[in-house]
Amino acid sequence: MKRRDFLRDVLFAGGGLALSPAALSTLAAQGPDPSAAFGATLVRGLVEKNGASFQPVRVPLPHVSDGLEAVIRLDNATVSRQTVPAGANELEVLISAVESPRTAKISLEITGAVTEWDVALKPVRRVLIYVLSHSHNDIGYTDLQANVEVKQMQNLLAGIELARKTADYPEGARFVWNLECMWSADLFMHRMSSADQESFRDAVKEGWVALNGMYANTLTGLCRPEELIRLFRYGTKLADQFGVKLDSAMISDVPGFTWGTSTAMAQAGIRYFSAAPNWFDRIGSLMQVWQDKPFWWVSPSGREKLLVWVPWTGYAMSHVVGKATEKWVGDYQERLDEVKFPYDISYVRWSGHGDNAVPDPQISEFVKYWNATYTWPKFKISSTSEAFSSFEKKHGKELPEFQGDLTPYWADGAGSSALETALNRNSADRLVQAAALFAVRDPAAYPADAFEDAWRNVLLYSEHTWGAWNSVSDSENAVVKDQWDVKRSFAVNGDIQSHELVKRALMLPVRKGSFPAARNSLDVDIYNTVSWQRSGLVLLPRELSSKANWLFGLTKFRPSPRVVSRWARANRSCPRFRLRHPRPCWTTASCTCAWMKRRAALSNSSAKASPETLRTPRTANS
Ligand SMILES: [Zn+2]
Repeated sequence: MKRRDFLRDVLFAGGGLALSPAALSTLAAQGPDPSAAFGATLVRGLVEKNGASFQPVRVPLPHVSDGLEAVIRLDNATVSRQTVPAGANELEVLISAVESPRTAKISLEITGAVTEWDVALKPVRRVLIYVLSHSHNDIGYTDLQANVEVKQMQNLLAGIELARKTADYPEGARFVWNLECMWSADLFMHRMSSADQESFRDAVKEGWVALNGMYANTLTGLCRPEELIRLFRYGTKLADQFGVKLDSAMISDVPGFTWGTSTAMAQAGIRYFSAAPNWFDRIGSLMQVWQDKPFWWVSPSGREKLLVWVPWTGYAMSHVVGKATEKWVGDYQERLDEVKFPYDISYVRWSGHGDNAVPDPQISEFVKYWNATYTWPKFKISSTSEAFSSFEKKHGKELPEFQGDLTPYWADGAGSSALETALNRNSADRLVQAAALFAVRDPAAYPADAFEDAWRNVLLYSEHTWGAWNSVSDSENAVVKDQWDVKRSFAVNGDIQSHELVKRALMLPVRKGSFPAARNSLDVDIYNTVSWQRSGLVLLPRELSSKANWLFGLTKFRPSPRVVSRWARANRSCPRFRLRHPRPCWTTASCTCAWMKRRAALSNSSAKASPETLRTPRTANS
């Protein structure tokens, strides 16, 4: 989305903004290089010299001949006499660093002519600012999905290359490419050459590329419980494959996350959540309430917590400022002052210029220059994990804890495609049923790849891009229609695949010894695929009922030995039931524990099963 263009309009319309008017006008006024044309300006960076601290003041020069003497005074005290160099349009003078804000008079005298300005002197914040470079993954919306796929795979290659080029830069300026979500990694590992995949793995191990565990920028409010778990499945799997730790996640653009997300993340081993909505566009009050206020998000059970931090301007900082400049550093400190930011570690997102943007090399060059010139603030380009863990070490114990829903703000839009949304949510539930059936009937037959494909479609439908940027203003546009066709196909394919998987599970022969032998062909097995006791009406098709058969009761049932032994470890109190036909057949209803069965299925079935697989979080059904 062309948020920068939109921003210009919105700024002056003044509607729905999350920042103070002062902060907004400061940011919006930033050009590529804020010159001294507005008067003498203070650079809000600390220079250390001979054991003393200084701050530079930039003084604009009128058009004068080279070689003249310029005298600069601060509150009438001479602080510099220097010869005007050839071609200069400003002079720099170092003044003693101030410890509190005040206004001073700066004057410039050349050949007897004096120009004077008021300049606001402000102390430099001794703050370490982490910079998280990434590209916002919009799978659609701004472009056809197929084009976005290519862009994001190229972005990963470009990120690796930029990290390689800056590997000998001073610490902090070395480029790190954060993979905002795992969808692009999944694509890359499926489509790119073995050599590229190896290069990716090496870059991750080297710290050039950082994994963030959420599969996509998802509307979590649409997700079924197991779908939330699956959002983090690919990330944990890839991290295991690469032999790296995964403890962070990013989400961008999306305002609000359902509470269950905290449980799903924590159970996937994720502790740090960089949540960065867009900063003005249909975001409710999320930015106003949570921006620059890191906190612990405690899960519904109270047993887990995540460090959540919404940075200033969300993921749009680089969209707004264009490029990093000295003025931007000053403005950033203004913002910290304005909100009375109490910490000495902060972070910003740096997502290039627009959505699906390429890695921005300028940030490395700027950080290299800044850190070499100024002692404070310091910048460090890093992974989410490094920034957050560093912050936690220093300030984790000071942070407030909150429980509750960060109610998603965009899920209502999915009502515009209610049919497909319903299909998708049903598919998610059906896949849980299918997995449980495989676990009950034959765990070894669990088709891991087919389930992964089906879940991928479910996840991609719940991804936050809905239609195209012009789907309201130009709904019949071919690009709009093409994008919707792809989006819709995720729901349709997920529906087809989930039905097929249920069918495949039901077609499996029952393993010998698993269940009481059927007495005749009219026996019907009924599975309770959730992990709690349940009762209810069981409807059998007319074809399965004959004149002599009827159900007369539901009584306790002694389960088969195999299922009992697994079940007993999970919950000894679980009852099992049998629906009995008086003659001539038995119909059995097994109460099965979906979680235990799923674990069994995953651990026993596939060559893909790994130690991480066994740590797959429980379904929210458990
Ligand atoms: Zn987006």
